[in-house]
Amino acid sequence: MTTTLIPDGLRTRVRKAERMLIGDDWVEAAGGETLDVEDPSTGEVIAKVAAGGAEDVDRAVRAARAALTGPWWHITPQERGRLLWRLAELVEQHAQELAELESLDVGMPINEARFVDVPFSVDILRYYAGWPTKITGDTIPVSFPRNVGGPYHAYTVREPVGVVGAIVPWNLPLMMAVKKLAPALATGNTVVVKPAEQTPLSIARLGELVLEAGIPEGVFNYVSGYGDAAGAALVEHPGVNKITFTGSVATGKAIARAATGTLKRVSLELGGKSPNVIFADADVEAAIASAGTAIFACQGESCVAGSRLYAHRSVYDDVVAGLADRARGIRLGRGLDPSTEMGPMISAEHRKKVLGYVELGRHEGAEVVAGGESWGERGHFVQPTVMTNVRPDSRVAREEIFGPVLSVFPFDTEEEVLRLANDSTFGLGAGVWTSDVRRAHRFAAAVESGQVWVNCYQAVDAALPFGGYKHSGWGRETCKENLDEYLELKTVVVAL
Ligand code: NAD
Repeated sequence: MTTTLIPDGLRTRVRKAERMLIGDDWVEAAGGETLDVEDPSTGEVIAKVAAGGAEDVDRAVRAARAALTGPWWHITPQERGRLLWRLAELVEQHAQELAELESLDVGMPINEARFVDVPFSVDILRYYAGWPTKITGDTIPVSFPRNVGGPYHAYTVREPVGVVGAIVPWNLPLMMAVKKLAPALATGNTVVVKPAEQTPLSIARLGELVLEAGIPEGVFNYVSGYGDAAGAALVEHPGVNKITFTGSVATGKAIARAATGTLKRVSLELGGKSPNVIFADADVEAAIASAGTAIFACQGESCVAGSRLYAHRSVYDDVVAGLADRARGIRLGRGLDPSTEMGPMISAEHRKKVLGYVELGRHEGAEVVAGGESWGERGHFVQPTVMTNVRPDSRVAREEIFGPVLSVFPFDTEEEVLRLANDSTFGLGAGVWTSDVRRAHRFAAAVESGQVWVNCYQAVDAALPFGGYKHSGWGRETCKENLDEYLELKTVVVAL
C-alpha cells in the first residue's frame, strides 16, 4: 500500500476510515475482511477499509434500534434541530479537511469539493435543522354518526418510520450521505449508512463529527463494504424500516425488488441522460459556457450531467466549436492540486466503460471533435470529449455514460426538440436557453423532468425538490416534501 502521496494531515483521517462506526465503537468487520480503496488519480491503494457483511449490518441495525427507542426518542424537537445545526457548524469548521478527503477519494477537483460539495452539505444540514419543530399533524373534522359513540375528536400524528438504511454512491459521497442523514434525523429516525466501496473516507469523518456534535451513539452508524454484501444485507434486514438509495438504475431496481420481502419503504435517486437545449434566440455565449460546466463538472460523474446538448441549426456550428474549445482547454490533473479543473474517473473499470462508449459512438458513425482518449501516464483519466453525428437512437445517445462525454445534436423546431428531449427513459434534469419567456414556460411545462433550468443549469438549493421522473427515481430529496418519506402518519380517533 502506498501512502506517500497522502498529505500528512490527511493520513490520520484515512486510517480512521479503515474501521466502521457502530454505536460509538470503531470496529473492524466481524469476519476480518478488508477492501482496497484507491486514489483514482494514481491507481494506488491508499486504505484498506473494513468490508462489512450481514453480521456487521445486524450489529449496526441493533445499535440504531436501541438509539431509536432510547436516548434519541426522548430528545425534544428543538434539541434535535440544535444538534443538526451543531453538526452543520462542525462540517463547516472542517470544510477544508473534508474537501481534501473527498478530493483524494473521488478524484474530484479540490475547488469543487471545497466550494460546492461541502458547503452544500452544510446548507442541507442547516435547512433540515429548522424542521423538527415544524412537523405537525392535523385535527380533522369527522362526520361519523354521533349515535355510534360520537361525537369524535380526530387528529393525526407524524412519527419517524424507524431505522433508515441509506445506501450512497461514489460521486459526491459526503453530500449524498447528508441528503439522507439530515431529513432522517430531523424527523427522529436513526440511520445505518452504507458508503460506496470506492469512497468511504469523508463519511467516516462525518461519523466522528456526528458524535462530536453530541448526537447520541447509535443514531448514525456506518458499515463500509460491497453492495452485494453489506448493501444487500441492509436491504433485507427486517429491522430496517426504510431504504433510501442513490445510485444506478440497475441497482435501484434490484433494491426495490429485494425490499418487497420485508415491505420496506424505498426511495430512489437514480441516473440521468439530461437534455440541454439552446434555441437560436438564446445568449449563445452564456449557454455554451454553462453547457461546458453542465457536462464536465465532477468529470461528468454527475447524475444531472447535461449529456445531450441540442443546438438550433442556426447556432449549431458555433456551439460545437465553443464546446470543443472548452473541452480542449480543461486542465486535467490530481484533484488535490488546486490548479486542476477535471479529475480522473473513479476506477480503471469505469474509465474502460466510458471509453467503451466513445468507441461505440465511433463505430456507430459519430465524429469525435474533441478528446475521446485516455490521458496521462497513470490514474484513470479520460479527456473531456465532444461528439457530433450521434444517432438519436444509438446507445451513446440513450444510455447514461457517467463521464465527460457530450453529444451535440442539431434541431430545427421547438416541437422536434421537445420530442427528442423527452425521448428518454430518464427524466432527471433539463436545461433550456432562450430569450422568449413564453417558449421557456412552454418547454418547462412539456419536458418530462424533475428539474428544469431556464437560462441556467444545475442550480440547486437545499429547499428545492430534487429527484427524477421515469427511470430517474422515486421520491424527492432536499425539500419539505422529502420529510414525508421519513414519517409515518398515524390517525387517532377519540370518542368524546
Ligand atoms: P451503484 O448503483 O453501482 O452503487 C450505488 C451504491 O449501491 C453503492 O454503495 C453500492 O455498493 C450499492 N449497491 C450495489 N449493489 C447493491 C445491492 N445489490 N444491494 C444494495 N446495495 C448495493 O451506483 P454508482 O456507480 O456508485 O453511482 C453512479 C450512479 O448513481 C449513476 O447512475 C448516477 O446517475 C447515480 N446518481 C444519482 C443521483 C441522484 O440524485 N439522482 C446522484 C448521484 C448519483
